[in-house]
Amino acid sequence: MTQPTPEEAAALVEALQGPSAIICYAQCEPCQWGQCYDEPTPHPWAGPDDVEHARNTGQPEPTGNCACSCARTGSVR
Ligand SMILES: [Zn+2]
Ligand SMILES: [Zn+2]
Repeated sequence: MTQPTPEEAAALVEALQGPSAIICYAQCEPCQWGQCYDEPTPHPWAGPDDVEHARNTGQPEPTGNCACSCARTGSVR
């Protein structure tokens, strides 16, 4: 087993703390409960309850894809 060099370790930390880490990802409720899709399926994080709550409170409808890995297709290595 090879140990990562300090440079590699620093690059890894940087990658983990990169721009994507700044965005607050949201997961849909099933994913939060571990009820993920068997097949990767893009789906919004907001459920019917979230949409209704936003409507009732006069907020814009929540948009955006679920941040869970089961919501991503194509980019899985
Ligand atoms: Zn999800
Ligand atoms: Zn999921």
